[in-house]
Amino acid sequence: MRMAAMRFDIITVLPGLLEGPFAHSILQRAQKKGLAEIVVHNLRDYSANKHRSVDDYPYGGGSGMVMSIEPFAACIEHLKAQRVYDDVIFMSPDGQVLNQSTANQLSGVQNIMILCGHYKGIDQRIRDLYVTREVSIGDYVLSGGELPAAVLVDTVVRLIPGVLSDETSALSDSFQGELLDAPVYTRPAVWRGVKVPDVLLSGNEAMIDEWRYDQALERTRARRPDLLE
Ligand code: SAH
Repeated sequence: MRMAAMRFDIITVLPGLLEGPFAHSILQRAQKKGLAEIVVHNLRDYSANKHRSVDDYPYGGGSGMVMSIEPFAACIEHLKAQRVYDDVIFMSPDGQVLNQSTANQLSGVQNIMILCGHYKGIDQRIRDLYVTREVSIGDYVLSGGELPAAVLVDTVVRLIPGVLSDETSALSDSFQGELLDAPVYTRPAVWRGVKVPDVLLSGNEAMIDEWRYDQALERTRARRPDLLE
């Protein structure tokens, strides 16, 4: 059992990029309810350099800057002196691609640190010495690790017990089981002649459950047959 809010420490050069994603809706509520604590750290505060620089030219030449080890090391060690981290995660396109099962697993731990890269990436020694897990959000490249970090935190926080209310339960979501989610409808029952499936208006719960299961199965077969293998 977790004793306190699940804590996320995110290290970034662009804290402003992370102001929006956690200040709304479910993520905001999770923090207000004391179930999650999300703290963003400005890497530049840990630069010993008078220009507060956090990057330098790559050894061996080539294009793009590389994020230096000293500011990351200072920030990581400062945080580690305060609590024990279950994982120090580096967001990286060459990491393990994020999926629901990883999100479920992470939603059960206490403290997570997340490092956001920029430019060409971070000095490999940071990865070798401090990072315990590398996560990609898909086979494409973004300019920085902030949006990927926000994606990771969102998908994990909504799975922390107590965060979602019953009516938004994650249990029937796609990837939570082996099936994609079924189609959903709301009022009006008829719009420009297009009707909501009769069964959903029937009030017969057993029939509705069966219909949803069939739809989910059909959708999974059509779109993601790999999930059924
Ligand atoms: N040169 C690197 C890409 C650097 S992109 C490479 O080819 O692997 C700059 C930063 O953005 C990365 O260090 C990482 O923190 C983040 N990033 C970019 N794409 C990402 C993805 N798909 N998943 C997670 N993080 C990503």
